[in-house]
Amino acid sequence: MKVILMGPPGAGKGTQARQIAEKYRIPQLSTGDMLRAAVKAGTPVGLKAKSAMESGSLVTDDIVVGIIADRTQEADCKNGYLLDGFPRTLAQAEALDTMLAQRKQAIDKVIDIRCDDEPLVGRITGRRTCSQCGEGYHLQFKPTKKSGVCDKCGGSLTQRADDNEATVRSRLAVYHQQTAPLIDYYRKQGNFSSVDGMQGMDQVLASLCAILG
Ligand code: ADP
Ligand code: AMP
Repeated sequence: MKVILMGPPGAGKGTQARQIAEKYRIPQLSTGDMLRAAVKAGTPVGLKAKSAMESGSLVTDDIVVGIIADRTQEADCKNGYLLDGFPRTLAQAEALDTMLAQRKQAIDKVIDIRCDDEPLVGRITGRRTCSQCGEGYHLQFKPTKKSGVCDKCGGSLTQRADDNEATVRSRLAVYHQQTAPLIDYYRKQGNFSSVDGMQGMDQVLASLCAILG
């Protein structure tokens, strides 16, 4: 099962992808997570990606396409994967189609998590992540039992450097300009569905699972 989870920043892609990956036993491939790891490790890719990520613009297509081309060849992707945050431009979607066609493979489902812009600002500025296990939280919508401490592993929570209001607004603009056109691209391919991302997290998960079967 190869699935693309789409949606604006803060729509809940990462939150849902973690749970779907566990339920369906397929890896979650988040280009954002992979790029953040590269920046942290100071790799050549990380050095190239850093300033675009900090400003909320997109990293170049060749970098992210290269990351996904390599990652999807790894053993754990044999039975499928869930793409979270990729593709984000028409060029990335076309490169993905070409890559899969060469491998005689195809995407099974593309699901868009629809959200209004304004609530996304609050979702992103309130987002916190466990520095140890990566579990996602929200100050208001999914608070930890003990302030600043992960419920699952006791790790400390961090806030992403790009999760501030100014950067969020430019990420939303980038989404509308460069990523939203992919909805039409995939709708034409016939494997597209969408779910209402303004529901509670559990209802969004139920809607996604109903589509995935
Ligand atoms: P994305 O990966 O699409 O950028 P996340 O999954 O990281 O988004 O979610 C952004 C923030 O919003 C997180 O703090 C998360 O806990 C919270 N969140 C996710 N889904 C919902 C929801 N349906 N309602 C309220 N808050 C949500
Ligand atoms: P995310 O974790 O999905 O919110 O992504 C964080 C940042 O990583 C984005 O604002 C971009 O700078 C970069 N990024 C992640 N995925 C992509 C992608 N598919 N194409 C270009 N840039 C990306």
